[in-house]
Amino acid sequence: MTFDLTILGSGSALPTSRRYPTAQALNVLERFFLIDCGEGTQLQLRNAKVKFGHINHIFISHLHGDHVFGLFGLLSTFNLLGRKTDLYIYGHSDLENITGFFRRQFAEEMQYPIHIMPLKPGALQLIFEDKVCEVFAFPLRHRVPSWGYLFKEKVRGPNIRKELIDIYKLGIKDIIDIKNGKDFTTSEGVVVPNSDLVTAPKPPRSYAYCSDTAYYERITKWIAGCDVLYHEATFADSERKIAKQTGHSTASQAAMIAKKAGVKKLVLGHFSNRYKELDTLLVEARTIFTETYLAEDLQTISI
Ligand SMILES: [Zn+2]
Ligand SMILES: [Zn+2]
Repeated sequence: MTFDLTILGSGSALPTSRRYPTAQALNVLERFFLIDCGEGTQLQLRNAKVKFGHINHIFISHLHGDHVFGLFGLLSTFNLLGRKTDLYIYGHSDLENITGFFRRQFAEEMQYPIHIMPLKPGALQLIFEDKVCEVFAFPLRHRVPSWGYLFKEKVRGPNIRKELIDIYKLGIKDIIDIKNGKDFTTSEGVVVPNSDLVTAPKPPRSYAYCSDTAYYERITKWIAGCDVLYHEATFADSERKIAKQTGHSTASQAAMIAKKAGVKKLVLGHFSNRYKELDTLLVEARTIFTETYLAEDLQTISI
């Protein structure tokens, strides 16, 4: 049951030869979500072998270029590839003007519908839901309106104990009944209680994405207990003042959010290109939250 995060870009405003600007591909049980779309995202999607046709939902955190400049090339490529299916883009309402300009200027004959799904300011909001997962948006604190996203698997039903299928010669209808909580009666009339037939489902997994943002403690209640938190860590502690001025976080501030939210694992990213090595950021964060890791481009993290 796949729940995989692939980092497409872990840099900040300036692309470097080592790190692309921000973008991520998330596979939640074969739903492919794109999170942010910095310059070069479509190349990184190619490198990560994510099929373009699988992407139907794009979640944009905010309208700074390092999170959105890759959108236009990607929309154009979708068209060139003959896309016909609807595309949903979540983010600031100005995305309507931005993509509208692009369509008028470069892609009048767009072959597929684009739906802009504007986010509200304020609190946690459910923005997508299907049979297996749900996606929430929540506000961050940055120089311009910015949202984080929480991707949650829904609670699954119980698992039938596979060895019992042969033993009791269970048919499809029996299996559906058992999954719905019914007991099973054998051909000899013996009633097998449901609790003997199933095992409890694994707890639902969740992933939270927070970039760009200054230290913002309010988000901890929305992302509490999530399995993996990606939090921006543009700066080291020595640049705390610049972090505050620019609406960004230091690595130790990201770690403090992870600790207060009680997440299981923290992945740091959106690194300033001023750092050739990131050891300092990692050490500063791990002092506060041990389960901290540095994002690398094209790395896949199983959640
Ligand atoms: Zn950024
Ligand atoms: Zn920004």
